Amino acid sequence: MVTITVVDQVEVQEIETAPLVGADQWRTVMAAADYRCECTGACGNRHSRTGLRCDATHDKWTKATGRIRLTAGPIDPITPTRTAVLLPASDLRAWCPKCFAGAARRARAAATERERRNDDANEAQGALF
Ligand SMILES: [Zn+2]
Ligand SMILES: [Zn+2]
Repeated sequence: MVTITVVDQVEVQEIETAPLVGADQWRTVMAAADYRCECTGACGNRHSRTGLRCDATHDKWTKATGRIRLTAGPIDPITPTRTAVLLPASDLRAWCPKCFAGAARRARAAATERERRNDDANEAQGALF
């Protein structure tokens, strides 16, 4: 099935969306970030074409992505949600969904790699003693 979406004729309304829960904290984070994704490469994209920082802006509408909604997320994207919800605004950053997912993927891969190295190191220790 082929779906053809005509987007050029869509009238893009300027609206501001904000989360219902934790909206005050979210606004604090977004205001500090200028309502722009604060990723500077953690997602794996160096964003070299946009001044080394992602140019995703909250509520900006593009043909490729639709309307972008930024989230206020922990600097370390694999912080457990339980912990993340308790973080003060100063420990949160504005993330676009793409960067947050990419950064989380990379952080998880790095954590796995660290664990593997620790296992290797422990085995080496075990062999020594
Ligand atoms: Zn981004
Ligand atoms: Zn990014």
